[in-house]
Amino acid sequence: MTELLAQTAPKKYAILSMDVEDWYHSDYFIDKKLDRSYSMLDGLDRYVGMLQDLQIPSSFFVLSDLAKSLQSKMLELSSCGYELACHGDDHTRPLLIPSKDFYIRTVAAKKKIEDLTGLSVAGYRAPSFSLDRERLDMIRKAGFLYDSSKNAFSDHPLYGCIDISGFDKVVPNIYRAENFFEFEVSTLKIADKNIPVSGGGYLRILPWWLTSNLITRYLKDASFYVLFIHPFELSHRAAPYLDNTVSFPTRMRFSLGRSTTEIKLRKVISLLKKEDFCFTTFSDLRQILK
Ligand SMILES: [Zn+2]
Repeated sequence: MTELLAQTAPKKYAILSMDVEDWYHSDYFIDKKLDRSYSMLDGLDRYVGMLQDLQIPSSFFVLSDLAKSLQSKMLELSSCGYELACHGDDHTRPLLIPSKDFYIRTVAAKKKIEDLTGLSVAGYRAPSFSLDRERLDMIRKAGFLYDSSKNAFSDHPLYGCIDISGFDKVVPNIYRAENFFEFEVSTLKIADKNIPVSGGGYLRILPWWLTSNLITRYLKDASFYVLFIHPFELSHRAAPYLDNTVSFPTRMRFSLGRSTTEIKLRKVISLLKKEDFCFTTFSDLRQILK
């Protein structure tokens, strides 16, 4: 497989992805009284506008609870060549769900998106990267062809840890078991720590000088890069009202840096172009590597 990649130009691949959820799906707001009528999903349109401006593909992991209201949007995305994948149903962390229930709910989430779009959904990403090997095997059993929930940043309290033993390494951070692929989210190893360099809150909150330094270091030796982002991070709308039952750090974490997210995203794309990365989707890369 490595030989195949060596013969096929370009050799380096970048995948931009969006986890399509609203602001209130965040784990930090579990059990909080929130105004769920207030939406920040306009960030999805802003993201697509940027992609179209730069002619870059993307994969979208959609919550099935939003699939009905986003049906026409999903069809529009698909007709423009973007990939639709599954982000579960209501954003409950899989590791909080008994595995048998997780399987039933995930099969239903996949089916709902497929029924509403008429498309086959190949990919899955766990809410909050909350997945273990038992549940990864259920993702395979449910008929998905790839997962992108493996994240080596172990200091995040919500993330899971996936034992990938038995998978073959195709290239660094891409693993394969028969026809099923695991695409690991990018982290930079410094000493014994894995530092996130893959977007989300890290891109939004950290200063650009630091982010650009970390991503540049990562790209120097990498042949594969994954970035993820959420609609609320690109929303033009004001932050929702959050009362004192939401902790101050959470309110800060949620609202900081949104005004510069798109600028930073465009800068990351420039870095990737400078390093000759080819932009693709998970499904297309799976086809290339198959
Ligand atoms: Zn999510």
